[in-house]
Amino acid sequence: MIIAVASGKGGTGKTLAATSLALSIGQNVQLLDCDVEEPNAAIFIKPKIEQSMTASVPVPTVDESKCDYCGKCAEVCEYHAIVVTRQQVLIFPQLCHSCGACARLCPRGAISEKERVIGRIDIGHKEGLRFVQGCLNVGEAMSPPLIRRVKELIDPGRTVIIDAPPGTSCPVIAAVKGSDFCLLVTEPTPFGLNDLKLAVETIRKLEIPFGVIINRADLGDNQTEAYCAAENIPVLLRIPFKKEIAQAYAKGIAAVDIMPECAPKFRGVIEEIGKTLEKRGPKK
Ligand code: SF4
Ligand code: SF4
Repeated sequence: MIIAVASGKGGTGKTLAATSLALSIGQNVQLLDCDVEEPNAAIFIKPKIEQSMTASVPVPTVDESKCDYCGKCAEVCEYHAIVVTRQQVLIFPQLCHSCGACARLCPRGAISEKERVIGRIDIGHKEGLRFVQGCLNVGEAMSPPLIRRVKELIDPGRTVIIDAPPGTSCPVIAAVKGSDFCLLVTEPTPFGLNDLKLAVETIRKLEIPFGVIINRADLGDNQTEAYCAAENIPVLLRIPFKKEIAQAYAKGIAAVDIMPECAPKFRGVIEEIGKTLEKRGPKK
């Protein structure tokens, strides 16, 4: 079972929920930190990292001795990563989406591909919890390829928790796609509700079953609850605001480590998701 934990905006408690879920399961679980621009689940899990490897993407390189500057490669590149002048082919690797079209369509076979390092993947564990995180290089714009590399390491024999990036754009879709269930973490404020609605639209398009966790549920207004009820969205957990949790979070201590009595509630969310998926039957 693969559960993605996402949120329409940052700062709602997404990582708090993802790490608490993983730690409360404890055994036979894998946590993937796919928030690769700012991975911070490791701060709370404190895994022993056993292996680190670079992650790279293929980008084009031009052999100008074969090139006649026809401009075909610049024409086919949807991302404007190639500019051809009368005597030069300029490649902007940061804009390249590694689609391979330019190399395939160059009429003179002048384009080959070389690997460009975009980040790092760390693999480790904490007791029965397997941990994987992607770390995008500073200044690197293309996080989806790294997220996909991290997800290649999914262990299907375990309950998998994915800490997705915040927002509703391509990185979130790369992280959430293929999951069995998505948990959307929100907070009961007008901003939280606005971003929850955007996240719901995105997840509905992906046709992934989902539910909501409301963090700091006793603060703010009841608009989020009303929205979920009207949209028939299950609220699977309400986390009350507790100064101890906020203080522990600021010190890099997971919620379930400071308040172990929360663990059954997080395990209850997993059980609830399991029942929902059983009712729905196998994925189409
Ligand atoms: S398509 Fe090939 S030959 Fe034409 S400009 Fe690009 S690299 Fe040169
Ligand atoms: S691989 Fe695709 S995205 Fe990258 S430069 Fe070539 S055509 Fe553009």
